[in-house]
Amino acid sequence: MEKKTCQGCGVSIQTTDPDQDGYTPESALERDTVLCQRCFRLKHYNDIQNVSLSDDDFLGMIHEMKKQEGLVVHLIDIFDVQGTIIKNLPQMIGDKPIILAGNKMDLLPKSTNRRKLTQWLRSEAKKAGVPVKDVFLISSVKGHGLADLTEAIENRRNRKDVYIVGTTNVGKSTFINKLIEKTTGTDNAITTSYFPGTTLGFIEIPLDETSSFIDTPGVVNKEQMAHYVSGNDLKVITPKKEVKPRVYQLNSQQTLFIGGLARLDFLQGERQSFVCYFSNELAIHRTKLQKADDIYQKHLGELLSPPDHETLASLPDMHEQSFRLDNEKNDIVFPGLGWITVPGDNVMVSAHSPEGVRVSVRKSFT
Ligand code: GDP
Repeated sequence: MEKKTCQGCGVSIQTTDPDQDGYTPESALERDTVLCQRCFRLKHYNDIQNVSLSDDDFLGMIHEMKKQEGLVVHLIDIFDVQGTIIKNLPQMIGDKPIILAGNKMDLLPKSTNRRKLTQWLRSEAKKAGVPVKDVFLISSVKGHGLADLTEAIENRRNRKDVYIVGTTNVGKSTFINKLIEKTTGTDNAITTSYFPGTTLGFIEIPLDETSSFIDTPGVVNKEQMAHYVSGNDLKVITPKKEVKPRVYQLNSQQTLFIGGLARLDFLQGERQSFVCYFSNELAIHRTKLQKADDIYQKHLGELLSPPDHETLASLPDMHEQSFRLDNEKNDIVFPGLGWITVPGDNVMVSAHSPEGVRVSVRKSFT
């Protein structure tokens, strides 16, 4: 056999002993990119990631991590900050320095004010009991901001391990795959290791002889919109491309439906523009406030979709919150969906969202 090496880690490929390094089934040699079985599994990392984690494993890992020194990189989704920030993180992982990485920056409009966004992330983190040393805005998919982030990690980690922490769907696998890509070519650039006290293998990417990047299990945050919707609906509400602002000139007593998953009533104020930032595929409907309840009752799941039927079966009832907005340009944030910017002076609005997903207001950064 012609001597082949794994394009992931550089190990010599062999097809005889599955228990030894470099094993790959004979049939896989025909592929354009030859990978050893281990790297192949890492590449299709979601399969590993989706292994369900028993409480014992999880607690074992957390307990072990708490004892170790190291730096934590907490990945969050800037489209669902409330749903992806892990509240009181230090209580879980011990007193380690934390770098916050706001992922999926490529989805925000170019007009985004990065300084204001960073400030907002910092204050949201503080509110959630997560004191952070640094905030970085990144795109794991595009690779934006990763060089700055890795440099900061190097400066802060003091030659200790780096733990990567995040809820599911924040882009942790994509991020880790990007890190793996960066280290490709080096012998044993990637390893799966069994975290002490648990039965599950986690990804480690060596940083030097004694320390590594360590992937940690996804933590569940019940406020994450992703928990409330079906797989199909998640595809619709998750922006795939840069979000195009959609502008509506509204008079008071008009309502905007965001699919059937959220609603904003303009109760009081001068006619003005409401700028919507949601997935381009998510339909927005304008109606009279007077008719809104009726339309919701009659058309939920049809004209007003998502939700689809699967989501509807378990979607919590809508919960309403009113806000008075003064002077500044504000964003009404619907976690996991997007936000609506209201320029307004002396405006009263009422926001509806599924119970458990809390709407909030921030100073606009667009
Ligand atoms: P994990 O569950 O945290 O491991 O998340 P994944 O890496 O599987 O990503 C979840 C979804 O978010 C996938 O559809 C990714 O393509 C997408 N995603 C991850 N990172 C980014 C990013 O930087 N930008 C965009 N637009 N999508 C991303």
